[in-house]
Amino acid sequence: MVFTPLNPLPVDTSRIRAAIRTLQPQLVEWRRQLHQKPELGFQEVLTSEFVAQKLQEWGIEHQTGIAKTGIMATIRSDRPGPVFAIRADMDALPIQEQNEVPYKSQHDGIMHACGHDGHITVALGTAYYLSQHRDDFIGTVKIIFQPAEEGLGGAEPMVKAGVLKNPDVDAMIGLHLWNNLPLGTVGVRAGALMAAVECFECIILGKGGHGAIPQQTIDSVVVGAQVVNALQTIVSRNVNPIDSAVVTIGEFHAGTAHNVIADTAKLGGTVRYFNPTYKGYFGPRLEQIIRGICQAHGARYELNYWELYPPVINDGAIANLVRSIAEDVIESPLGVVPDCQTMGGEDMSFFLQEVPGCYFFLGSANAEKDLAYPHHHPRFDFDETALSMGVEIFVRCVEKFCR
Ligand SMILES: [Zn+2]
Ligand SMILES: [Zn+2]
Repeated sequence: MVFTPLNPLPVDTSRIRAAIRTLQPQLVEWRRQLHQKPELGFQEVLTSEFVAQKLQEWGIEHQTGIAKTGIMATIRSDRPGPVFAIRADMDALPIQEQNEVPYKSQHDGIMHACGHDGHITVALGTAYYLSQHRDDFIGTVKIIFQPAEEGLGGAEPMVKAGVLKNPDVDAMIGLHLWNNLPLGTVGVRAGALMAAVECFECIILGKGGHGAIPQQTIDSVVVGAQVVNALQTIVSRNVNPIDSAVVTIGEFHAGTAHNVIADTAKLGGTVRYFNPTYKGYFGPRLEQIIRGICQAHGARYELNYWELYPPVINDGAIANLVRSIAEDVIESPLGVVPDCQTMGGEDMSFFLQEVPGCYFFLGSANAEKDLAYPHHHPRFDFDETALSMGVEIFVRCVEKFCR
């Protein structure tokens, strides 16, 4: 759907900034409350209650219990126009927090170590602001709080539940607070931002025996070692060198004693790539190599290969919109990192397969305040100044797209 702006509204960006800056103490408070009660994927019960209660309080129309714990808020202006969506993920990780802060996790062994507490907060701040300033935009804004980003792919059942339909979403954005970038920067690009994630487990079935009598055995360790090496040729010899891809074997378990030939070896790994045309390529190629090597040695194998997330592909026009707004909000074009890519994956990709949109990184590290630990580290924390910057970028994107 294309909308021709009939009467573009005059926008006072300094008024928006001032209003959002006053929300900062509130944002910090919400983030810290959420941080203390982290919940794992599809178990975000307290978290979604927190979100729903705020939406209720502010009189924002919303639907709960989507894909178990997901929520969608709908904020309508009184004039018809495009439908813009914003996405936040809500889950935490099975990590014991090691930060000694007053807002430390109160849930044993669970921690918001990826910054999703911040994502919920930024989305809530945006919902609050927009609900109070329905004159700033035309059309409808949907704010989607999804469960289970960390490996469980909560975005997919949200899409299947129809959050992008009725009214149909025209464009969508989302952000990840990003400790790989310093506070005051934004990483955004058109095209592939994050990689497809595929995983596999393989058991090599050999024949065990005495370490001194190999002729009576089929050594699963030797077969497994050849498999590990040979799989590296998929990236080096089969993938077009112009395209980026990774095959990592992260697990190799075999054997019980130094003088025993192991009858089985278990390998586990992950495959990453940006170019969506490789979908369906790696699994069969990997199996072809494993089959050939096992055959050569008289071993058998069991292979389990699955596609977790597609690559995150940003739409050129929406990425441009985010970039121009980000330059303005962080008050420096230098702060926008144009070619920011990672082989990490994100299930935002399920949304971006359906509608044009843009996912971007909001720099949140501050080494001077000791807030620069990597994501998923037990001491991960971020500079909360990024919260109001995130709200401002979201609000400004809405105001620019929906006019
Ligand atoms: Zn994460
Ligand atoms: Zn994350």
